Amino acid sequence: MSAQLILAPGKERSLLRRHPWIFAGSVERLAGRARPGDTVEVVAGKHVLAKAAWSPESQIRARVWSFDPDEIIDNAFFKRRVAAAVARRGVLPRLTLQQGLRLIHAESDGLPGVIADKYGDTVVVQFTSAGAEKWREAIADALMQATGCKRIYERSDSDVRGLEGLESRTGWLRGEAPAGEVVIAEHGVRMAVDIVAGHKTGFYLDQRDNRALLGELSAGKRVLNCFCYTGGFSLQALAGGAASVLSLDSSQPALDRAAANLALNPQLPADRAEWRCANVFDELRRLKAGGEMFDRIVLDPPKFAPSASHAERAARAYKDINLLGFKLLAPGGLLMTYSCSGGIGLELFQKIVAGAALDSGREARIIQRLQGAADHPVDLAFPEGEYLKGLLVQVS
Ligand code: SAH
Repeated sequence: MSAQLILAPGKERSLLRRHPWIFAGSVERLAGRARPGDTVEVVAGKHVLAKAAWSPESQIRARVWSFDPDEIIDNAFFKRRVAAAVARRGVLPRLTLQQGLRLIHAESDGLPGVIADKYGDTVVVQFTSAGAEKWREAIADALMQATGCKRIYERSDSDVRGLEGLESRTGWLRGEAPAGEVVIAEHGVRMAVDIVAGHKTGFYLDQRDNRALLGELSAGKRVLNCFCYTGGFSLQALAGGAASVLSLDSSQPALDRAAANLALNPQLPADRAEWRCANVFDELRRLKAGGEMFDRIVLDPPKFAPSASHAERAARAYKDINLLGFKLLAPGGLLMTYSCSGGIGLELFQKIVAGAALDSGREARIIQRLQGAADHPVDLAFPEGEYLKGLLVQVS
């Protein structure tokens, strides 16, 4: 018999709304014995409400696998969940065409602690919770079966593993390294994905639609791409006919990758691209002092506020770069500005951007709200799964 996690009185409310996390403060006690990652029954009063993965080291003491108390959590369960997640990517026809695609988005696909991205016939997987760790072999088998891919690389090297008491682990989980590098085409642009050393699983798939949008907005324009990483936005701007694209990042290896990605696309005008290694906060000031102007500016910074406790400092950083962005826009120019901070909601982000516009003295309107791509679904009961928020803002 599996152990039972007995909820403290009144602590079942979020569970009844199908929120999948059980925090330490909601646990009265564990009846029976469970090792990290073991499946436990979640009990309120006399009722079993869910089956969850036990994680004694984490503040999130358990993550729900199933809200059906009778569902058996075994290899077949993961086969069903993985197949359902992969099938979900087939709902929107435009997604099925993508060579780079998120296949599993953790809680939002009913698989807490599991991220899986597909790049051509290679899948990169990341396990970030004790429960996911326990079932990694079953999940790997299910992924091979559901996708027909040739190989799976594991990138379980996210910092959050430490919170779950897990060591970091990377390497080939199924199959062997491909002969060359992993390359995907995104909207007709070839991009190499560094699955071994790149950020997260190697590529920011969530910005796919937004990169295409920048392409549509770039013909004949002077584009500034801040925090360019491996050049995703920059290359779409070039493909869209930009007059010039200046790309900034503080990481020289990222910029080298970006330049190499440009070289993978001989159809693009390389002479219109400049890659500059710089701190965006400083470089925007230098550009302003030099009297530079741009028609399109992208601000896609790293997570300034991983959680709500960092929100205040992060808000200042967002305000700073957005203020400088507004100042650098030519009349009628567009700012494409993002936050991927879990600790800052859309409403707050919009306030910060509004404050920046006000202080810059520019009149500004939101042309479009921007989101993550459709292969990053959001569970209605788990809004935390929506990281990316963005605004397309035009100045007068
Ligand atoms: N827009 C990219 C993803 C950006 S990731 C894409 O579509 O793929 C964030 C990038 O910001 C990283 O490459 C990181 O090196 C860079 N970065 C972080 N802090 C920075 C700073 N202060 N100045 C410049 N670049 C920075």
